[in-house]
Amino acid sequence: MKVNFSLYYHPLYSDGLDKTARFPVDRYRMIAEKIRLLDVGKKILIKEPRQAKREEILLVHQQDFVDRFLAGDLSEKEIRRIGLKPWKKEIIDRTLHLVGGALEGLNDLLNGATIAGNMAGGTHHAFRGEGSGYCIFNDIAIAAEIALKTESVNRILVIDLDVHQGDGTAEIFRNDPRVYTVSLHGENNFPFRKKISDFDLGFANGTKDEEYLSQLDQVLKGLINESFDLIFFQAGVDGLDSDSLGLLSLTRAGLKKRNAQIFQFRRKVRKPLLIFMGGGYSKPIEDTVDAFCDLFLGASEEI
Ligand SMILES: [Zn+2]
Repeated sequence: MKVNFSLYYHPLYSDGLDKTARFPVDRYRMIAEKIRLLDVGKKILIKEPRQAKREEILLVHQQDFVDRFLAGDLSEKEIRRIGLKPWKKEIIDRTLHLVGGALEGLNDLLNGATIAGNMAGGTHHAFRGEGSGYCIFNDIAIAAEIALKTESVNRILVIDLDVHQGDGTAEIFRNDPRVYTVSLHGENNFPFRKKISDFDLGFANGTKDEEYLSQLDQVLKGLINESFDLIFFQAGVDGLDSDSLGLLSLTRAGLKKRNAQIFQFRRKVRKPLLIFMGGGYSKPIEDTVDAFCDLFLGASEEI
């Protein structure tokens, strides 16, 4: 039987955001189009995800926040903290599909897949009662809570390599030994008040491939001894040199090596891996698109 790498994508990932938002709205559509072109071996199966259910979101988020978002009733201040403005009503369905994409990927892992991914999400700045930094609901945390309800999952390792610290995820699981949070990020970048992950490593502005990759190698070596049943990988590519929000100086080749280190780690520990896309704001946008295509095509080679 032919086995594919399941990658979840919904047209609303792009279309649910306003074209005038200060955010690379088109990147999702562009990545999906480019992957369809580049995946000549047809290893990647692009699938439309379901919407997450309210009860699933409530496993992590406060009811008042969830219900006001679903009713289109967040305050101007709350919306400003999230960004992605101006909002259109489709942002609600978009958000539910975005979380749904992570949950579909999780479901694949729970049913025996070794690796799956969502072509959006990794919304690691969302806290229990508020969104922040382009993040509304924390898909990593929601997927973790659902996974932990199953008998086969007792502990999850979250490796967050987005250039921005995974502050929301760190805070949500701060006193929860079932989720081990690791964040490698730009020390001087947003969020300016960092939260405490189980392991944090902040890089100086302008950090280059060699330094980054050797530090990551050390971190992964240390993680071999942790016990966990699943790996969640927040794979933001905003550490790229051309990223407008990044402050690091990683190359496309460097990010490919970074991904390969994670895939190699997965093979070593033999645990399933779920990929959350994360940030990418390069100018030109094509640099972000290429780096994410590298990520997903690289993941498909792991099948
Ligand atoms: Zn980021």
